[in-house]
Amino acid sequence: MRKIPHNPYDLGRHDLPALLAEIHDDVRERIASGRFGTLADYIPALADTPSDRFGMAALTLDGDLHTVGDACEPFPIQSVSKVHSLTMALEAEGDDLWKRVGREPSGDPFNSLVQLEHEHGIPRNPFINAGAIVVADMILSHHADPLDDLLAFMRARSGNAALDVDCSVLDSERGAGFRNVALANFIRSFDNIHNDVAKVLELYFAQCSLRMNCVDLARSVSYLADRGRCLVTGEQIISAERATRINAVMMTCGTYDAAGEFAFHVGLPAKSGVGGAIVAVVPHVMTLCVWSPGLDDKGNSLLGGYALHRFTRKTGLSVF
Ligand code: GLU
Repeated sequence: MRKIPHNPYDLGRHDLPALLAEIHDDVRERIASGRFGTLADYIPALADTPSDRFGMAALTLDGDLHTVGDACEPFPIQSVSKVHSLTMALEAEGDDLWKRVGREPSGDPFNSLVQLEHEHGIPRNPFINAGAIVVADMILSHHADPLDDLLAFMRARSGNAALDVDCSVLDSERGAGFRNVALANFIRSFDNIHNDVAKVLELYFAQCSLRMNCVDLARSVSYLADRGRCLVTGEQIISAERATRINAVMMTCGTYDAAGEFAFHVGLPAKSGVGGAIVAVVPHVMTLCVWSPGLDDKGNSLLGGYALHRFTRKTGLSVF
C-alpha cells in the first residue's frame, strides 16, 4: 500500500520550544569555540556589539511565540528594513515601482556601483543598497512626513509602540556612508532619484538605524506569511498577490549574493542585514527572526544562517 506522506505544514507535529532550545545549545557551543563570524565594522557603531549574542524568535500564524537566547535584545535592523520600505513604496507607487528598480539578483556585493553604469541607473533589485535608495526616494515622493510614517508602519507591524531610530547608529551611518552617498548621486545622474539626494539618504540611513529585537521583527513580517494580513493589527495591509511577490524577491535577492546558497540550505524567503538579523517567512505558517551579529564573508549572520538551516532541516518547513 502507498504510504501517505506526512504534511510538513502541520505544526502540531513539531515541538517548537524543544527544537529552538536544541538549536540554541548548538549555537552556544559554536560561540564558545569562537565560531561566530565578523562584525560589520565599516559602520563604526556596529563594531561595539558583543559578538557572542544569539537570539531567535518563531511566531506562528496562530499567534504562538517561541523565543530563545537574546531574542528580546534590540539591535539595528539595517537592511532588514528594506522589506518594510519596499512594502510601503509598493503601496504608494504601485507596480510602476518595477520600472525604476529591477527584481533580479545582482551577483555583486550589496553596496556595489558597477552594474549601475551599464544599466542606466536602474538598480537590479530593491534589496541592494542602490535599490533601497530608489525605494526611499519613492517614499519621499508620496509621504509628507516619510520618517514618521515609516516609524508608524514599523510600530504597527511589530506591536512595539516604543521602537525608534538609534541615534548613535544613525550618526555612524551618516559619517561612514561614502558608498551610499556615491550610489545616490550616481543614480540621480540617471534621473532615477527625484527628490533631494540628502533627504533620500537621510531616510535610508534612518531606516537602517531602527532598533528592534527578534520578537519585533518576527511580528513585523507576519503579513508576508499570512497573504498580506498583519497578525498584530488584523489589517489587510497589502494584497495577497503583493505579499507573494515580495516573498519571491526575498527568496532570490534577500541574502546578498548568497541567495542561491541560502535557498539551497534554508529554502525560505528571507532578508538579512549587516546588524546580524535575518527574518524568514514560512508562507501560510509562521515567521522567524534570528540575530547574531557576527557575519560571514557575504554579509549574512553566520550563526543566524546556521540556525535557520537547522530549523528547516529538522522541521521540513521550507518552501521546496
Ligand atoms: N546601512 C547599511 C549600508 O548601507 C546597510 C547594509 C545592509 O545591512 O545590507 O551599508
